[in-house]
Amino acid sequence: MSTLATSGLPLRPELVGEVPYGAPQLDVPVRLNVNENPYGPSEAVVAQIAAAVAASARELNRYPERDAVALRADLAAYLGHGLTADHVWAANGSNEVMLHVLQAFAGPGRTVLSFAPTYSMYPEYARDTHSAFVTFPRAEDFTIDVDAAVAAIEETRPDVVLVTSPNNPTGTALSPEVVVALVDASPGVVVVDEAYHEFARTGTPSALELLPGRPRLAVSRTMSKAFAFAGGRLGYLAADPAFVDALRIVRLPYHLSAVTQTVARVALANAGEMLAAVDRLREARDDLAAWLVGRGLEVADSDANFVLFGRFADRHALWQALLDRGVLIREVGPPGWLRVSAGTPEEMAAFKTALDEVLTSDD
Ligand code: PMP
Repeated sequence: MSTLATSGLPLRPELVGEVPYGAPQLDVPVRLNVNENPYGPSEAVVAQIAAAVAASARELNRYPERDAVALRADLAAYLGHGLTADHVWAANGSNEVMLHVLQAFAGPGRTVLSFAPTYSMYPEYARDTHSAFVTFPRAEDFTIDVDAAVAAIEETRPDVVLVTSPNNPTGTALSPEVVVALVDASPGVVVVDEAYHEFARTGTPSALELLPGRPRLAVSRTMSKAFAFAGGRLGYLAADPAFVDALRIVRLPYHLSAVTQTVARVALANAGEMLAAVDRLREARDDLAAWLVGRGLEVADSDANFVLFGRFADRHALWQALLDRGVLIREVGPPGWLRVSAGTPEEMAAFKTALDEVLTSDD
């Protein structure tokens, strides 16, 4: 959708000319554009989900459990690190979790800071909460330099810092030293968006380890990626209970439907199976990165389930040529780069064949 029928309406001025966020949802054979887990649940889990939905259907005349305490307890148990339901918040995707964070801690006259290139929804959360949004550049290799980060904080005195690890769209993991420096220097809250953490190389520390004694730090996660639950819409955040209470003030009552809560709990009860493809996808990512390097391309070092590669004088032409061959990837990131998600062996083979064809025809 490129144009909207909003002209003539008394829209907020900052929304005039804006379009709804989202990658194209196209019905093509190979979809490697939104970093989903390509492996769906087994029939056994599908049956459990169906039974749970049937049970909750009998009570759909009632509002759901408003604070989703049982689900939050399950999420806390999944995260470990001694966390309890009081340390965990949950919403319809981590997008909604982040909106809650900005509704509680940003707003008019307040500033949100991030390090670019990064997740392209952050400026939208800021716009929608009437907050100023400021970015500072990442280093050439997409890492965040500690001194530069601290200088950025001192210059802007942000109310909210959003940092992504592993970062989207570059795949770059953040070292704990950077997170600690950001929290220490920052007057406001710091959220580490770990949407892709489960795909990080073994031993990559999570910012969850840094939570004790840091009440202004939060770590957000999602069930959309490694957990193979993008359609279930469940994102969550771990922080000090006081931080969670702040988010409870701004959430809409009954924001998580009974069906969402029950289905997410079934998925969590089957965590082993839901996460079973993570190792395979890590391998697919590493293989993909090595293959792209072998093809003479530049590849950003990735700890996520996607790879950013380039650089192309006309990346849109390449994106389109791949789409013409039934392979959908993402035109995102710094100019000249493209992002491709790790997929099944068949999807990876289709991507490689298509890219080879396009690059060879250009040679
Ligand atoms: N954070 C990052 C870094 C992401 O890439 C995404 C999804 N692309 C999200 C958050 C939001 O995911 P969801 O709302 O599905 O939990």
